[in-house]
Amino acid sequence: MRIAILGAGIAGLTTAWYLARDGHEVEVIERNQGVALETSFANGAQLSYSYVAPLAGPGVLPKVPPWLLRRDSPLRFYPAIDPHQWRWLLEFVGACNRATSDLTTRRLLTLSFYSRTLMHQFVADQGERVNRGLNDVIDFGYAKNGKLVVFSDQAGFDAARRLLDYQRALGCEQDALSRAQCIALEPALGDPASALHKRLVGGIHTPSEEVGDCYRFCLGLEARLRGMGVRFRFGTAITALHTAAGRITRIDTDAGDIASDACVLTLGAQSPFLVRPLGLRLPIYPLKGYSLTLPAAAQAPRISITDFKRKVVYAPLENQGVQQLRVAGMADIAGYSHAIDPVRLRQLVKESRQAFPAATDYTQSTELMQPWAGLRPATPKGTPILGTTPYNNLLLNCGHGALGWTLALGSARIVADLLNGARPAIALDGFAVDT
Ligand SMILES: Cc1cc2nc3c(=O)[nH]c(=O)nc-3n(C[C@H](O)[C@H](O)[C@H](O)COP(=O)(O)OP(=O)(O)OC[C@H]3O[C@@H](n4cnc5c(N)ncnc54)[C@H](O)[C@@H]3O)c2cc1C
Repeated sequence: MRIAILGAGIAGLTTAWYLARDGHEVEVIERNQGVALETSFANGAQLSYSYVAPLAGPGVLPKVPPWLLRRDSPLRFYPAIDPHQWRWLLEFVGACNRATSDLTTRRLLTLSFYSRTLMHQFVADQGERVNRGLNDVIDFGYAKNGKLVVFSDQAGFDAARRLLDYQRALGCEQDALSRAQCIALEPALGDPASALHKRLVGGIHTPSEEVGDCYRFCLGLEARLRGMGVRFRFGTAITALHTAAGRITRIDTDAGDIASDACVLTLGAQSPFLVRPLGLRLPIYPLKGYSLTLPAAAQAPRISITDFKRKVVYAPLENQGVQQLRVAGMADIAGYSHAIDPVRLRQLVKESRQAFPAATDYTQSTELMQPWAGLRPATPKGTPILGTTPYNNLLLNCGHGALGWTLALGSARIVADLLNGARPAIALDGFAVDT
């Protein structure tokens, strides 16, 4: 089959990867001049397979008013005259209950564990390629160095400990660590000058969690895909999909029309706009986040740390022998602009400096910290939208929110299986588009 992949982020490239391996003729259409230049560019780098609980949880709503009032809060809301924004928010509020959050967590864990299996296969296959003397291995700083979520108040830590049993029953291997155990595990938390050190109460450690640079992975996939004959059309904005008799018949772009036998929508936060005229409503809204990529000093964290109170993640990344620290956080409900708000950027630098004062040279210019902002394509419940649509040659792989890197391989394999007419390895309950 000739298949068009609409969008070259991590969702599009991984979908192209499996489809090309399955023998299809694949073409990737992307408005930017390269792959992964939007949300998949400098995300938190966490392959967070066991930490998938959605933002919409039972304890979230009481925290929202103080969050919204504080200038330095991890979540900010900028109201817009946009019914799509308000509808998303109402659905988000409706999902903030224990039953919905538990169900979403269970579904996401199934998808994340499947994705982890596929990532391990991918990495093992790379090892074999090295053994065979092939030089197309993707170096994306992949490491299994574990993740420690640290808590600053006893009540929050106790609640996380209570969740352990539930998570263990679902297959997660996690341990609750005392303050002293956290510091023994990650010496960077022992710095007496650190605000995080002062407020540290305890943490939940997940030794199996991994990190990797999503952008470098995407660049490597592009090279491998080109080697497999996949065509890339960069600088090509998709403007409309034409339909007849329940099928997509033509893809309109600003560089002419494209025909294909099937297409997969992987446009991240932009996904709803293209299919709205077809009568498909995708409840995806951008949650804007920020990151820094710091040159890491010897005293920087060596394992992934999540500061639960401040909602900031710290991931050590290795890039050709150079150690970096990726710092990511903030969730701003603020529309579709990618612009970096200097206030939010300063806030993220301050969080990092206060938590890990010796992790880098904070007197360096902010430019050297590689600031970045991206739009998480978030659904109210936190589940991505995967699978078929009422148009029998249009499939969806979008809405992965804060977990698009973690869930990429599983989601892509599922969509490829559906296109092949095969049964996906996991049940798709909760992932389908509402029609
Ligand atoms: C601050 C931050 C931290 C994060 N941390 C993590 C993390 O640690 N772990 C994790 O798993 N996930 C994380 N995420 C989430 C993850 O980055 C996203 O879920 C993922 O990148 C989404 O990928 P995507 O391919 O769906 O979207 P994108 O990467 O945005 O790709 C969509 C592509 O479609 C293209 N496009 C859009 N419209 C058109 C059009 N009309 N025509 C042609 N092309 C178009 C865009 O240019 C873009 O290249 C984070 C996100 C942010 C913002």
